[in-house]
This record gives sequence, C-alpha cells and structure tokens, in this order.
Amino acid sequence: MVIVLEPDYADPKGTVEAIRTAAKRFEGVKVKPFDFSGTTHAFTEVHLIGRTEAVPTQDFEGLPGVLRVVRVSSRYRIIGRHEATETVGFTFNGVTFDDKTLNILPGLCAVDKKENVASMMKALREEGITTTRMGAYKPRTSPYDFQGLGKACLPYTFELAGKYGVKVIAMEVTDTRQIDEISEALERAGEPTGVMFQVGTRNAQNFELLKALGQQDKGPVLFKRGMGITLEESLNACEYVASEGNPNIVFCLRGVKTHLGDPHRNLVDFAHVPVVRRQTRLPVCIDPSHSVGSMRKAPDGLPDMFHISAQGVIAGASMILVDFHPKPEEALCDGPQALTLNQLGPYVAAMRTVRETYENLTESFV
Ligand code: PEP
Ligand code: MN
Repeated sequence: MVIVLEPDYADPKGTVEAIRTAAKRFEGVKVKPFDFSGTTHAFTEVHLIGRTEAVPTQDFEGLPGVLRVVRVSSRYRIIGRHEATETVGFTFNGVTFDDKTLNILPGLCAVDKKENVASMMKALREEGITTTRMGAYKPRTSPYDFQGLGKACLPYTFELAGKYGVKVIAMEVTDTRQIDEISEALERAGEPTGVMFQVGTRNAQNFELLKALGQQDKGPVLFKRGMGITLEESLNACEYVASEGNPNIVFCLRGVKTHLGDPHRNLVDFAHVPVVRRQTRLPVCIDPSHSVGSMRKAPDGLPDMFHISAQGVIAGASMILVDFHPKPEEALCDGPQALTLNQLGPYVAAMRTVRETYENLTESFV
C-alpha cells in the first residue's frame, strides 16, 4: 500500500509519524517513507510493506497531509506508475531529467585519450550541450579487449568537463568500488561536474551493485535493461535501486540480444518506450548506438542510427545516450557505431525536430 502525501506539505514528518502510529495496529506491516524531489514539486510517499491486504485504506486517508492511498499490486512499487499521473523526474547538477525535456548525451563509449575527451567536450560546448557519456570502466566480452582506462582517466575527464561546462556525465560502473573511486575523484577535482551512474545491460541483475547505487546520493542512476531477460525482470531489478532509497533513475532501452535482430547488433526495442512509460513513472532513455551497432546508411543516405534514434524519440523517449568519437577508426571500443563530430550538429537538430513533432502529436491527438 502506498500513501501519497500532499506535495510541498509543511509537516511531512508529522504525517509520517501519524502513519507509523496508525500502522502499529497491524501485525507484520512495515512502514518505509520515500522522499521524491520531483521536477515541479517535492513530495513524500509512505509505503506499507508486508501483509497489507486486511489494512483498510480509510485509516490513513483521513490523516492530515495525506493526499491519497493506493493499493499496489505490482511488484515495482516505487518505480511503478500506479495511479500517479506524472512522471517523477529530478534535477541533477542543474539539469532536469523528466518526460518534458529532451536530453541528449553524446560522448565517448570509452575514454581512450585525453585529447579525444577534450575534442568531444569542445564540440558539445559549441552545440550548447551540457550532458555527455564517458566510459572509464568497460565491461568487455573478452578479457583481452581494451577494458577502459579506469580511475586513471577520471581526473582529466572531470577537469575538462568543468572547463567546457559539461554538467552531467553518464559513466558506467561495473563494481561497487568504482562508485567510491568516482566520488573521490569528483571531490578531489572540486566537483566540476556530476556523474550519473550507468548500470550496463550485463549488470542489470547485479543486485549488490544495484543496492549500493540505491544507497548512495552522489548521483542518479541510468539503468539499462538486461539484454537477455524479460522487461518485467528488468523493471524488478531497477526497483532495487529505488527500494534502497534512490528514486532518481532513468530507464534505458538498448536493444535485446537475439539473432532475429540481424544485421543490427541487437533487436531494437524502442517499441517498449510507451510500455515502460505506462508501467513506470521514470523518464525513458534510448541508446541507439548499442542497439544498432554500426553507422551503415539506408538508401536515403541516412544512417540506420538516425532512423532508429528518431523512432525512439517519436515513441516518447526523453533522453538519448549516443556514441560519438573524434576519430572512430582509432577508437579502442565500438568505433564502427560512433558518429563523428561533424555529425553532432545535424544529429542534435534532427532529434530536436522529431521531439517537436512528438510534442505536437501528443497535444493534438484526441
Ligand atoms: C555502453 O553504454 O557503453 C554499454 C556497454 O552498453 P550496454 O551495457 O547497453 O551494452
Ligand atoms: Mn560500447
């Protein structure tokens, strides 16, 4: 059972205490409050966990500060949409992630050289973009492939972000120790930027990593769906982050593994954008690069990457994680799927046009 408090209520603590007192009468029922910062207003929810079937909603509906009480049947009680009408976004380091703002995060799949980080970030500033992706820890299929530069590249990556006004970097973590390495490097650099911790598809069910990300408040989490598990399993895994106390999550679609998607790297799953938006209240991101895996062009001259990015945006995604590289042929990881810096402007302009079309569609459809 979820008890939603009135937004921006003056005394949420008092209401939470009143709920605790009322809940004591029911055996086997635990009380867990969650605070959401939201994009338009802050609000608190109190979750009653355990044997709540026999608990009457009226006992809580009448308490001062309670907006409504919802019986939750689905297992993803925090990230689930239930009867909430709004997507719960958040603002991190001055950048808002919700379903109303399109954020594009073009960047390096893997940091390889300082000069490439600098060229990438300079190009972003010229486009007025303050969000990027930079991989330091790479989960590779083979142990003999480039594994990422790890913590060695963090100081210059963060320093350059500060220099070029990059506010948010999506950076994958594959192990709980890397959360501390990143946090320490950010502190040592004087917090010139912020990191959104990315959970890669291979770690979608690494529950200890998910719990650790839920327990920290250094940065939000970009959760990528598992490539070989059901959507429901991915949503349940994502709930681990929220259940440990961090509701600032973006859910990312990046394709699923099957040869039925050939010749694309994965079977593009952006038809699930509206599904995830209906089932959860999280903003939804698409990763066209890892879905498609190449820069091959269609006969119309546009790379499949452009077509498929547009499909995700027209389906309602409000964030794009996309690989770029100043010299894709020299990239140590995923070069063939990277766009070049001279494609940044056209790509961003195209995605903004598609987003505008999407917004017009949602406004005009009856
Ligand atoms: C990535 O974004 O660099 C990555 C490894 O993606 P995924 O986890 O989706 O394969
Ligand atoms: Mn990659």
